[in-house]
Amino acid sequence: MQLNTLTIKQAGQLLAKKEITSVELTKACLARIKEVDGEIKACLTVCEKEALAEAKKADERRAKGESGELLGIPYLAKDNILTRGIKTTAASKILENYIAPYDASIIRKLKQAGAVLLGKTNLDEFAHGASTENSAFGPTHNPWDLQRVPGGSSGGSAAAVAADMCLFALGTDTGGSVRCPASFCGITGLKPTYGRSSRFGLVAMTSSTDVPGPLTKTVADAAMVLSVIAGVDKNDGTTVNITPPAYAKASAGKPTPLVRGEELKGLTIGLPKEYFIAGTDKAVAEAVEKAIADLKKLGVKFKQVSLPHTKYGVPVYYIITPSEVSSNLARFDGIKYGLSVAKPPLPPLSGGEENGLMQVYTKSRGKGFGPEAKRRIMLGTYALSAGYFDAYYLQAQKVRTKIKQELDEVLETVDCLLTPSAPHVAFKIGAQSGDPLKMYLEDIFMTGASLSGLPAISIPCGFDGGMPVGLQLIGKRFDEARLFRVGGAYQQVTEWHLQKPEIS
Ligand code: GLN
Repeated sequence: MQLNTLTIKQAGQLLAKKEITSVELTKACLARIKEVDGEIKACLTVCEKEALAEAKKADERRAKGESGELLGIPYLAKDNILTRGIKTTAASKILENYIAPYDASIIRKLKQAGAVLLGKTNLDEFAHGASTENSAFGPTHNPWDLQRVPGGSSGGSAAAVAADMCLFALGTDTGGSVRCPASFCGITGLKPTYGRSSRFGLVAMTSSTDVPGPLTKTVADAAMVLSVIAGVDKNDGTTVNITPPAYAKASAGKPTPLVRGEELKGLTIGLPKEYFIAGTDKAVAEAVEKAIADLKKLGVKFKQVSLPHTKYGVPVYYIITPSEVSSNLARFDGIKYGLSVAKPPLPPLSGGEENGLMQVYTKSRGKGFGPEAKRRIMLGTYALSAGYFDAYYLQAQKVRTKIKQELDEVLETVDCLLTPSAPHVAFKIGAQSGDPLKMYLEDIFMTGASLSGLPAISIPCGFDGGMPVGLQLIGKRFDEARLFRVGGAYQQVTEWHLQKPEIS
């Protein structure tokens, strides 16, 4: 048995029965990373020594009678999530050697639960992107086809899970960054409700939509991780004091033959017509149609709904995101963190070009930030500047409110929504990297849930030319449980999530 290929649920059962140890599980993952990551390039840091020490501790906790779904389970975290004592680069030169003095709240919770951190994964610099090509340290390759992107920005996390380098990974989703790579790599990816899982200790991108979430092999596993990372956090005022339900009830195991069952009887799922558009590839549309047919056999009723403001999602997102990015990246000034090009002592403050302090700022930022970060800083600074604020930022916020209201209203009439995750499968590395607008359009089905703070999950539902296709379920606020119920039942009767890439 190759332990690294197990799901959390399977590994948990074996750990509980004392048939395997966390040290064995951790070693299997580390060996897999060594075997395949030279080609995939999912990991930026692997902390072998620390991981083995944590695994040993987890085994000791279990020997003393402790239990827990994540006790001894090895995982990887996206490199924009702070980890005490282990580098956090956000895939940026400006943070190349940054070591955080504290853990993000979600890392702390996972540590308490006994999960074992194996290392940190690649991303688009500061999570700006949908392909992982914007990483300052080179792109990650899709395990299904090494010539293709894994999606982004949590591309390293998704590729690592798909290639069985870990049992699960953490990502962050601001405008699709968990769901897009999950869809491109054929795994499950959950963006929780905004406020469900703490942002404390994430390298902030767009604070009003950032949310960390799990990338897993099954829906049931996503539920298990969420139950650990969810909950109110005094360090993040936007987290909400709503007790997370017992998510882990969601089912997934060996597929049973598709039968006309009662599992999802009484549920109505909305199909927003603006997400079923001509630009979607035929094979992707067919895979999603087939999933709808499968869910009908489980008792789901489908209803067409309309979200006319959907077309404003990408333009609104690309005003709000750069605006918040321009503000959030201001802290990287060559003084407080990371790279500093010209070091003080500085000549007296005189202003302008000759000002030594100004030179530290401009040279450090000029050298430390990649082209996409700079583009977003400029776009955002423009949108927020006096004279343009009303026309861009304020207007975008007004339209955002419309998008949110419309989604909330439609979700009153159905249990959740189903859409494709993306209009196509993973594209070739380099195919779009010279065209930022085309890259921004990758988020077409993602921005609605992000701007509205709603939970959404991407689940594998087929293949197109050997590459995975994903479907998206969007839920009511704080109703992740229903997404798990639908997704879990779907994975009980289908095998898409069980397919593994052959890495050569
Ligand atoms: N593709 C989106 C962007 O580039 C999403 C990023 C994210 O969710 N972090 O902004």
